[in-house]
Amino acid sequence: MKLPSLNLQILFAAIIGVALGFYFQTLGPQHQLVQGGLYTSGLLGTLFIDLLKMILIPLVFCSISVGIANLRQHHQMHRVWISTLIYFVGTMMIAITLALLAANYFKPGSGLQITMFADAMQNFEAKQLPLPEFFAQFLHGLFVNPFAALAQGNVLAVVMFALILGIALVIGGERFNHLRTLLQEALDVTMLIVRWVMYLAPLGIMALLIKLIAVQDVMILTTLAKFVVVVVGVLLLHGFLVLPLVLYLFTRKSPWWLLRGNREALLTAFATSSSAATLPVSMRCATQQLNVKPEIAGFVLPLGATINMDGTALYEAIAALFIANLVGIELSFVQQLIVFFTAMIAAMGAPGIPSAGMVTMVLVLQSVGLPAEAIAILLPIDRLLDTLRTTVNVQGDIVGSLVVQKMTLQTPKSLNTNT
Ligand code: ASP
Repeated sequence: MKLPSLNLQILFAAIIGVALGFYFQTLGPQHQLVQGGLYTSGLLGTLFIDLLKMILIPLVFCSISVGIANLRQHHQMHRVWISTLIYFVGTMMIAITLALLAANYFKPGSGLQITMFADAMQNFEAKQLPLPEFFAQFLHGLFVNPFAALAQGNVLAVVMFALILGIALVIGGERFNHLRTLLQEALDVTMLIVRWVMYLAPLGIMALLIKLIAVQDVMILTTLAKFVVVVVGVLLLHGFLVLPLVLYLFTRKSPWWLLRGNREALLTAFATSSSAATLPVSMRCATQQLNVKPEIAGFVLPLGATINMDGTALYEAIAALFIANLVGIELSFVQQLIVFFTAMIAAMGAPGIPSAGMVTMVLVLQSVGLPAEAIAILLPIDRLLDTLRTTVNVQGDIVGSLVVQKMTLQTPKSLNTNT
C-alpha cells in the first residue's frame, strides 16, 4: 500500500491531534485515558522537538557559512544583504502598523476590571530591563567564543560567527576551497538527517497538538476573548493576506502555490511554537518545494528565524496597548511611536523559542511606563497565541527567501519561475 505524501500525512495528523485534544478536554484531566494519552503525547512531542533541536545548530552553522560563501559566485552578495534587511524591517513595520491600527480601533482591554487580575499580578515579579541595558546585552550576546556558542546551542552567536566565517571564505577565495567543500558536505549530510527526522513529523505534530489543546484553560480565554480575537485577526491578516500579497507583488506567485509548498513548515511552527526548531523544516520546504536556491535559503532563513519576527512584533504592540487600556492609561501618539520601535527591537531580540516574546515584552511595557507585572495576565494564554505568532514568523521568513531571491538572482532565465 502506498502511503500519502508526507505533506498530507502531516495535515491529517494535525487534524487528528486537534480533534483528540478537544476530546480529552471533554473527558477531563482525571480520566485514565486522558492521563495515559497526555503522558504519551508529552513524551512523543518532546522527542520530536529534541530531534529538531539536535540538528538545529549544525544546520544554522553550515547553512549560513556555506550560503554566504556560495553567494560569491553570483557577485550579488551585497544585494542579498541589503534586500534581506530591507525586507525584514519593512515587513515588521507593516505588521506593527496593522497591530497599532487594530488596537486603537477595537480597544481590547478597556472595560475589563483590573482587580480581577490583581492576584496574578501580585505573584509576578518582572525583571527590570531598561532599553540601553537590553541593547547592551543583545550586543554582548552577538560575539561569543564559537565553540561555546555551538556547544550551548546559542543560536544568535552561532549565526554571527557563521556570518563572519562565510565572509572570510569569500574574501579568502580559492585558498579555502577545502574548507568550503567540507562545510558544503556537512550541510548536505545535515539535510539528509533532517529528511529522516521529518518522517516522524506527523506523529510529533499530532502529539504536540493533543497536549496543547487538552490542557488549555477555556475560562481565561473567554475573559480575554476580545484581546485574543484582535490578536488572532491581525496575525491572520498579516500572515495570510499581507505577506502573500507582498510575495505576489514581487514574484507573481499565488498564495496557493506558497501554501502548498510551505504547509509542512507552517504546521511545524504552529505545533512547536519555535521558529528555531522549525528551521530544518523551513529549509526543506524552501529549497525542495518552492525552488529557493540553497545559497539564498541558507542565508535568509536562519537569519530570519533569529531576527525576523512579524508575528511577535505585532503581538507585542497589541499587547502593550491592551495592558494600557487595562490599567486605564491612554497612550499618546508619541508613546505609541515608542511602542512601535521597541516592539520591533524586542521582536528582533527574542530568540525563536516558545514564549520568548513574553520575556522581551517587558522591554516594550517599560519603555512607556506600563507595569511589567501585567504580563502575568497574558501568560496563561501565551502558549496558545504563540502557536499562530510563530506560524506568522515562519511565513515571513519563507516569503522573505522568495522575495530576496527574486530581487537578487534575477539574471534572466537563470531563475526558475515554474509554479
Ligand atoms: N515563539 C516565537 C518564535 O519562535 C517567539 C515568540 O514570539 O515568543 O518565533
